[in-house]
Amino acid sequence: MLFLKHNQKIHAQTTNSVFKFLGSKCLTFNKGIELYHLMQSSESVWSVEESPNIKSYTLANFRTLPQIQEFSEEKQFEMEVVGNVLPFKTNNYVVEQLIDWNNVPKDSMFVLTFPQKGMLIPKHYEKMATTLKNSSDKKEIQKVANDIRLELNPHPAGQMELNVPTLKDGTKLYGMQHKYKETCLFFPSQSQTCHAYCSFCFRWPQFVGMDELKFAMQESNSLVQYVREHPEISDVLFTGGDPMIMKAKVFSTYINSLLDADIPNLKTIRIGTKSLAYWPYKFLTDDDAEETLAMLQRVSDKGLHLAFMAHFNHSAELKTGAVKEAIKRIRKTGAQIRTQSPILRHINDDPQVWADMWRTQVQLGCIPYYMFVVRDTGAQHYFGIPLVKAHEIFRKAYRQVSGLARTVRGPSMSATPGKIHVLGASEINGEKVIVLRILQGRNPEWVHIPFFAKYDENAIWIDDLKPFSGEKFFFEDEMQKILHGRKEQDLPES
Ligand code: SF4
Repeated sequence: MLFLKHNQKIHAQTTNSVFKFLGSKCLTFNKGIELYHLMQSSESVWSVEESPNIKSYTLANFRTLPQIQEFSEEKQFEMEVVGNVLPFKTNNYVVEQLIDWNNVPKDSMFVLTFPQKGMLIPKHYEKMATTLKNSSDKKEIQKVANDIRLELNPHPAGQMELNVPTLKDGTKLYGMQHKYKETCLFFPSQSQTCHAYCSFCFRWPQFVGMDELKFAMQESNSLVQYVREHPEISDVLFTGGDPMIMKAKVFSTYINSLLDADIPNLKTIRIGTKSLAYWPYKFLTDDDAEETLAMLQRVSDKGLHLAFMAHFNHSAELKTGAVKEAIKRIRKTGAQIRTQSPILRHINDDPQVWADMWRTQVQLGCIPYYMFVVRDTGAQHYFGIPLVKAHEIFRKAYRQVSGLARTVRGPSMSATPGKIHVLGASEINGEKVIVLRILQGRNPEWVHIPFFAKYDENAIWIDDLKPFSGEKFFFEDEMQKILHGRKEQDLPES
């Protein structure tokens, strides 16, 4: 038995971590349970100087975590059922630094990365649970999982049909999307994974091994050719998965091709990433940290804007010394960090969490950018928040932060016609309405025209709303033409 005094530090060999004790603790060092006692009774703090290696936890090994062994077999099985359908991966930084195990199972960071029973509707849950109980045949389990996945709207907002661009020579670029005039998205094939997976992720089909559903493309020269052919494109957004999962050498190949091509219309390179929240050591002590920062620096040196689009879902992700230091280092390269997140039931449906996030982000030199609405895919039934309530949370958070944090926009739905901004509830001739506008549209002419929907406090997506007057929203006829036109264009020539 070992007694530790207030704030005394101990190095835990098992995890390469330093644990700072908040009070006098009595710890039993029996192999197998000591880490759990440490985690339960202490605040674990990795020092900024530490050089940890990432260790992933997935379906294959999550049961080895001492914290998980404290759950009943039934609960562990629930995680397994859901984790066989939706992507599941977390890591040692999330487990040891971000999750508050004293608050589990409600803890936001736990819900963000560990599968929860409610994420599958009962019919899907039962189907997978029965399969797992009766079969250990991997192929059969995979088939059941894929059948369920196909019922979860794997590619919302017309991603497959509408956004796939084509080169002038007719080559289709399945590793790209071009929805809004100025911005094209690029999915490097090496970035189709992340440091950990978010349970709400709308890109979930990218990670579950359904190859035919992947957008992936290796040739950066196709990217260069496409951007050249489209002078209206000013921004290229690298996305994934998480592009920051790529080794600096690989990522640099893409970035350098764009920089070397000197494309006059290219003004900004954006990187959509959650690496700051899930693995800040990418910018601190990983063996390619310096090379990664040098790559960001090259973009600024070339006179282009490097927009680092950081996903933060909860203020807990901004609290560690590592993330603060990583933000500092990225900003030194000339990159500008903008932040975004969906509003999620069970994770951040609280104005205080958002106000805290935005304030801290501004303090650290980041620009709050978007609050999104959970997309109509995957576990939307679990995470979705009615639009009216989402707006109310936004307003309560927004009104308590300074003007510098009011750069944030939202709540916004990334729907088939474009990004639809919920401006709030109002009244027309004594009748309640929801006021909306399009921030980014498939047709730029739609942008910033206010429009109205009948008030519906349960609606969680644009499809749930009815126009306040008339049969259709103002953009619907044209949207149908776009859909129809693209389908015809996609037909093989006879
Ligand atoms: S980091 Fe982004 S792409 Fe990866 S799981 Fe989370 S939301 Fe999805």
